[in-house]
Amino acid sequence: MLAAYLSAVADPAMTRVADASAGDAGSAGSASGTAEHQSSATREASAGEGVTRQSGEGTAGKEMASKGAAGSSPLDRLAIGQLPEPDLPPGWAMVKMAAASLNHHDIWTLQGVSSRPISPPQVLGCDGAGTVVAYGPGPVPATAPPLGSSVLAYPVISCRECANCRSGNELLCRDVALLSEGKYQGTLAEQFPVPAANLVMLPDTVTPTAAACMGTTYLTAYHMMYDRARLVPGNTLLIHGATGGVAVAVMQLAKIGGISVIATARNEAKRQFALSMGAVLALESDTASAREIQKFTAGGVDAVMETVGAPTWELSLRSVKPDGIVVVSGATGGGNPAAMLQRVFWRQIRIAGSTMGTFQELNRLVGLLARRQLDPLVDSITPLSVAAGAFAKLYQGQQSGKLVIIA
Ligand SMILES: [Zn+2]
Repeated sequence: MLAAYLSAVADPAMTRVADASAGDAGSAGSASGTAEHQSSATREASAGEGVTRQSGEGTAGKEMASKGAAGSSPLDRLAIGQLPEPDLPPGWAMVKMAAASLNHHDIWTLQGVSSRPISPPQVLGCDGAGTVVAYGPGPVPATAPPLGSSVLAYPVISCRECANCRSGNELLCRDVALLSEGKYQGTLAEQFPVPAANLVMLPDTVTPTAAACMGTTYLTAYHMMYDRARLVPGNTLLIHGATGGVAVAVMQLAKIGGISVIATARNEAKRQFALSMGAVLALESDTASAREIQKFTAGGVDAVMETVGAPTWELSLRSVKPDGIVVVSGATGGGNPAAMLQRVFWRQIRIAGSTMGTFQELNRLVGLLARRQLDPLVDSITPLSVAAGAFAKLYQGQQSGKLVIIA
């Protein structure tokens, strides 16, 4: 089968992150979530050529950063070619891919960064939709969609047995991983295996292209807004890096949810883009904008969707209202800003981490698609056989909207 995959690990030192313990698995989850705005943040923060992960987990992350800056392109390790068809374990389904989408997670995998050890060939891709063509040996779960169903894959694989998994908090599972991490094949292939329990049935009105955009970027945005920040209609949120994937998703979901958006971006074109996406105010992303935000909102925003980290942290803390919340799903511009703890305790600011989203939330997003309330922003649709160009666009941060790959 045709697949897009990591063909080689560039440097054994780079796999050190992959050897990290379960604590790092969580950050990999966030890695996929923040994927899209890494490219944005790289542009925004002028962080240079190398797309580097700086989520602040310590020396391995720093090592990655320096290696990335030093040099070789992760795109050199991207291969698009024939691989044997993967095994289908009991309880798993084989999906004939109709559409998948790229995330910055795929670039990190090419760089050797993963929550699990990587052994090439590693098929890339977290997000995918298509048709169920087979189930693995043994009994098929009662809730599994019939063969031939159009489905979307939930990218988070967890143990399904621990207390967190059983209570619908699979993101907190100690054994959590994403499609395309470790032994799990990704979605960027003519066929991809996925646990049957991870399939979301798609109504006729939902195209695979739209569905394939949901699994990482939109899911991350949704979880930040409605699980972590618990936003309600009439609230105001602040988002940085207006053209990043999660930022775009936040702006679209906020419009549906009756939430006002203030966006920041480094240049006028991006601020105009944010206004075109429905932002009520678009400002420069420097600390001086806090005064304007405080004035505009009469005391601060209800919530900040923080994905950039160090370059925007002070602006976030100065823009949020007392008892407001700063939700962090990425730190692409740096993971160790000055904490400003006096401001945090004096104004009773709440700070919450966020990674990906739940299966239930993904179903809600499909509901928004089915009711035609949400129409994801798609940059381009590219056949898998020539997907290298789409990867290059992602790496260079030139996309606006999702890069969709079709079989
Ligand atoms: Zn579990």
